[in-house]
Amino acid sequence: SDQAPVVTRFAPSPTGFLHLGGARTALFNLLFARHHGGRFLLRIEDTDRARSTQPAIDAILDGMRWLGLDWDGDAVFQFSRAARHAEVAHQMVASGHAYRCYLTNEELAAMREEAQVAKKPLRIRSTWRERSDHSADKPYVVRLKAPTEGATTIADRVQGEVTVQNAELDDLVLLRSDGTPTYMLAVVVDDHDMGVTHVIRGDDHLNNAFRQLPIYRANGWPEPVYAHIPLIHGADGAKLSKRHGAVGIEAYRDEMGILPEALGNYLLRLGWGHGDEEFIAREDAVRWFDLDHVGKSPSRFDLKKLENLNGHYIRAADDARLAD
Ligand code: GLU
Repeated sequence: SDQAPVVTRFAPSPTGFLHLGGARTALFNLLFARHHGGRFLLRIEDTDRARSTQPAIDAILDGMRWLGLDWDGDAVFQFSRAARHAEVAHQMVASGHAYRCYLTNEELAAMREEAQVAKKPLRIRSTWRERSDHSADKPYVVRLKAPTEGATTIADRVQGEVTVQNAELDDLVLLRSDGTPTYMLAVVVDDHDMGVTHVIRGDDHLNNAFRQLPIYRANGWPEPVYAHIPLIHGADGAKLSKRHGAVGIEAYRDEMGILPEALGNYLLRLGWGHGDEEFIAREDAVRWFDLDHVGKSPSRFDLKKLENLNGHYIRAADDARLAD
């Protein structure tokens, strides 16, 4: 086939433990890539220097190994690529797709207040969009010249067609005044440079996709296929939080004695299914996985069900031992 080989990635921010939602996102990315004979990459998004920690990085890598979420090649650390991100931002200024914005904090505060009074969200289209009287010695941020007219439509593989009016977008910051890249820029540059063809992630990032697409377009880069997966909720329907026992996945291993096969199988079926199959071996999951059968509504985490499933795997392991 003349299509680009499938490349997926998992891109956790190491600001906390590897939680269930992250583990499931990684699993879906792995299965999709393996199903298509492609590659599954890992990128640690450690650009938030204040909140990224080594223990969190270790917990993510350990948790992924424990669950058999083996990534291809070396993990990419986003912070190490900051110079490349800045380079792209400056190229975008040179090509007219981004601009240096010299708005002062006072001016920004005034705009914020004006928006508040008008009860409108703050959407910055800075006057510096069209100005060329740049002063080299004043601090500036680099902003994207976001499209102002028309609409952007994403044909999301899970959510379907989603459209946003471009008037609702703003000229987001690509480079901060200290020269560091923002998350929006870093994600797009890294996904492009890593050859990512399919971005499969939680639907809390769907809004970001509309801010990221213009960056691809400004650079003339091929756009990825998006698949935004509904988040995992607790049994009561609310977004999964610590209150529901949402802890790092190592707690399921160390404190609850959950086997990796049980957790993997449980997460797989939380938001995806293959008929009535209850116990799906990894090879079968690779054979059967597709985005068409990812559910469109949030799935509910149920610890009792996970524990029951775990009991099955424990008995199966015992039976296998007895048969030896
Ligand atoms: N680093 C982001 C997060 O942990 C994910 C970015 C992405 O998948 O595009 O939520």
